[in-house]
Amino acid sequence: MTYDIFATGSLLGAHPAMRIGADWVYTDSTSTVENPSTGEVFARVPVGENGHIDAALGQASVAQRVWAKRSYADRASVLEEVVRQVDAHAEELAQIVVAEQGKTIVEARGEIEGVKGFLGYAISQKYRNIGELAAPSNRDQQLVIREEPVGVVAAIIPWNFPAAIFSRKVAPALMAGNAIIVKPSGVTPLSSLALARVFERAGVPDGLVSVITGPGRTLGAALVEHPLVSMVTVTGSTRAGQEILAGAAKKVIPVSLELGGKAPVIVFDDADLDLAVDHAFEARFMNCGQVCTCNERTYVQRGVYDEFVAKFVERTRNLVVGDPTDEGTQMGPKVSQEEWQKVKEHVDRAVASGATLEFGGGTPAGMEDSPGYWFAPTVLTNVTNDMDIVQQEVFGPVLPIIVFDEYEQVIEWANSTVYGLTAHVYTTDIRTAMSATDDLEFGEVYINRIGPEEVQGFHAGWKMSGLGGDDGIHGFERYTRRKTIYTEYARRAG
Ligand code: NAD
Repeated sequence: MTYDIFATGSLLGAHPAMRIGADWVYTDSTSTVENPSTGEVFARVPVGENGHIDAALGQASVAQRVWAKRSYADRASVLEEVVRQVDAHAEELAQIVVAEQGKTIVEARGEIEGVKGFLGYAISQKYRNIGELAAPSNRDQQLVIREEPVGVVAAIIPWNFPAAIFSRKVAPALMAGNAIIVKPSGVTPLSSLALARVFERAGVPDGLVSVITGPGRTLGAALVEHPLVSMVTVTGSTRAGQEILAGAAKKVIPVSLELGGKAPVIVFDDADLDLAVDHAFEARFMNCGQVCTCNERTYVQRGVYDEFVAKFVERTRNLVVGDPTDEGTQMGPKVSQEEWQKVKEHVDRAVASGATLEFGGGTPAGMEDSPGYWFAPTVLTNVTNDMDIVQQEVFGPVLPIIVFDEYEQVIEWANSTVYGLTAHVYTTDIRTAMSATDDLEFGEVYINRIGPEEVQGFHAGWKMSGLGGDDGIHGFERYTRRKTIYTEYARRAG
């Protein structure tokens, strides 16, 4: 079924508005949203200003104090209704994701399942332990360390999973007793605006969830530095993370950063080769290569290198690129012209430095006259580890394949970039698998499998991939702070 995502009564309505506390707000000045499959502007959204930030945060801090006094069970029941509303609007939400972001409808439906997954995990926290009892130094005393909400959270999110990452931040923030203001990417603001409506329809109290749209560098920075914000959570590039961290340092508030990645896939001679090819392929081309955990570079041991390359290139030739609303499409377009250009420059530089283009390299053959930001799945060989294509995040459907000889060499290469988010290893030897798990400097290691990561895990980058982390008990804790309570209860004599 195709939805008119701007129909009367739809989540977005005819004119998408910002959610500022209890209000839906339009502005005279608007910014455009393009459909990556056609390059056409299909929506306009408000451009938020500092006054909107003040209004959203003022209402958030009042609403948060009331919300924090409600029990965990009570907050969970509110989130359970959000899940029901997401379910009721699942296809509409998926179509919004496709329209603004360009992933395939099949992938977008998976993303909406992810929205529910993050809510489900947060709901499960209604039974969490919320404190510890430390042994006091004297009798008739009690020493309790308990968790409390941080207050008002600012969430700054990217364009690659505009719905799932909204939920990844909002669900734990609310469950822990906070209010939250979300600033989506200017490229994909609609999913956040639609989800804000879902939260409203589910009966989440006014003021707890606001969404402000507008330019990242100015609006995002103003949000981070606002006195009423007591924590910032970010998913985005390392560049943005560094700027936001510097802004937050002025106020000494906690920051959680999920940043860039350059995930290696390492295939040893003894690997199940077909499994490794399948997974390396899926992990490179899902969401048009725009996933922080994506296979950004594959190292293959010399004994199976030729066979791996032949099988991988064959799979690549048969990948169906096209209209993401078509159920049979396997890969949609890049999200924007700017991102298309970035990827193209990476490939051209690699070829100029001596890499061999095995397939792809730019617009897919036969699509030269199609509007939209199409990029062919691309494979590069004759690549050396020091090339930019191996060291820098590409975030597009381009795979450099590098041959290696020894275990020590490949571990050194895998660890050689500034990133440390995700690594994948393919081997049937338990000793190799366990040693690699020890030696890889990454926050997440996958052995003979790929993602997506799971809600009960901990998605946290090492090195310049991040600080803090999302998901599971460790991610949830980011939305809390500790209070220690010392009590004396000795009865007075007489
Ligand atoms: P981006 O850094 O350009 O933007 C992310 C968000 O930050 C946007 O909302 C943007 O408006 C905002 N922003 C940018 N500069 C800012 C500043 N100085 N102050 C405040 N806000 C600012 O990233 P993107 O292009 O939207 O997303 C792609 C990047 O996100 C990739 O590097 C990818 O690896 C990363 N990513 C990481 C994860 C993860 O979990 N580690 C997940 C998804 C994406």
